[in-house]
Amino acid sequence: MKTIDKIYINGAFVTPHGTEVFDLINPTTNQVSGQVVLGDATDAQQAIGAAKAAFPAFSQTTKQQRITYLQQLHHAVARRKEEMIQTMIDEYGGTRAFATMSFGFTLQSFLHTIEVLEAFPFERATGRSTVRLEALGVAGIITPWNASNSFVASKLATAIAAGCTTVVKPSEMSARQTQLLTEAIHEAGLPAGVYNMVNGLGHVVGAEISRSKDVAKISFTGSTMVGKSIAREATETMKRVTLELGGKSPNILLDDADFSKAIPKAIQVAYMNNGQACIAGSRLLVPESRLEEVKALVKEAVNHVKVGNPSDADTLVGPMVSRKQYDRVQQYIQLGIEAGAELLAGGAGHPEGLEAGNFVKPTVFAGVTNDMRIAREEIFGPVLSIITYRTDEEAIEIANDTDYGLHAYISSASTERARKMATRINAGRVAINDFSHDPMAPFGGFKQSGIGREYGVYGLEAYLEPKTIL
Ligand code: NAD
Repeated sequence: MKTIDKIYINGAFVTPHGTEVFDLINPTTNQVSGQVVLGDATDAQQAIGAAKAAFPAFSQTTKQQRITYLQQLHHAVARRKEEMIQTMIDEYGGTRAFATMSFGFTLQSFLHTIEVLEAFPFERATGRSTVRLEALGVAGIITPWNASNSFVASKLATAIAAGCTTVVKPSEMSARQTQLLTEAIHEAGLPAGVYNMVNGLGHVVGAEISRSKDVAKISFTGSTMVGKSIAREATETMKRVTLELGGKSPNILLDDADFSKAIPKAIQVAYMNNGQACIAGSRLLVPESRLEEVKALVKEAVNHVKVGNPSDADTLVGPMVSRKQYDRVQQYIQLGIEAGAELLAGGAGHPEGLEAGNFVKPTVFAGVTNDMRIAREEIFGPVLSIITYRTDEEAIEIANDTDYGLHAYISSASTERARKMATRINAGRVAINDFSHDPMAPFGGFKQSGIGREYGVYGLEAYLEPKTIL
């Protein structure tokens, strides 16, 4: 059992002022696997102080120097591949396949950022003026547990590219992953104070960062509820915010789609990361006239889903991150049953033989209407709702009838028809016959899925302040 008893401030691992201890629990077994000593508000202030002191010099580094730092980060992280993947599996129950993909994103975020930075003009002529894009200052980075290091890495890479210094507050449930990443960052040799990391609770360390007048920007990924609270705190000091929040993404199967291909993909996109993904396609919208065919194909696809040990290469659904999250998903399954939806697969309780961990049966409800809570609220578990539509117009209406707007998927034999539909969908990203990721294109939400964009040029600009020189 390992105790993580250091935080990282001003280029060194230091003992936190805070003394509270948080148990790290392996969700596959529910055994305590380690502990983390949590930092407190004093630690957050010290980290902010270090980042503030490092900012004047770091913001004046050349583009080439910052590219070199990003290359060094890439090398240092690449060396820890196996260890980082295994830690994701053990720490939150991410499957080997997802953890491997997520590690790929972590690594690639440095390379993609270098590519963006190389071509990025920090001065532009506009009208009679020159517009300089200047680093904002200290960036607070607050991240969730569900793909922890890939979020920290992509935000850190962009902040560094801009010339900002950082204070990172990862999820307390991701302490071991963050420890490995921090060791790699230490090895990469960034100037002291550019990266600082404080383990701690959200309402203590996260809130201190959100409140501080010395933090110019918050980049947050997490729930809509916490995002709103950060935005409220940030208003007081006019911080810039980028908020990547929750989703309830529609996956629309048009009547000309090849259902035999689209449905197995729909199951994968609903259950990715054990259903704990902001971009999960959790509402499957299908033509009413094809419902029986859809149901048969969905049942067959779910039968092939392997639930179990996340370490196995072919597992699609591992455990929920915590007992609390398991209980929450169970409550939603109950709500679906009580609302009168048809339980097509899965249901309440653990899958047989997996009682020790936080495993949920991969669940599908048919006969769902878009006003049911299972169709409106983010469940963050392997629960898919099938909703029928009669016309394309009605499909668009249902897809947009949500408080969220992070992602949407459309399957169709006609790209032209799907593209036309995509222009009507209120979501930050619409993927047509594609379930992959484009790290060079902006990513972020419409409506209550967030504010601002990450990745690519848009992501970099979010760490910069335009200054007009006339
Ligand atoms: P969460 O909102 O509970 O926590 C996220 C982070 O915020 C954690 O580090 C937490 O400690 C911190 N936090 C909590 N309260 C805080 C406060 N008052 N002030 C400052 N920080 C605080 O989310 P989670 O359970 O870790 O992750 C799941 C959520 O994240 C889901 O809603 C999911 O949709 C969302 N998410 C969004 C994206 C995206 O890109 N849009 C990606 C992944 C996850």
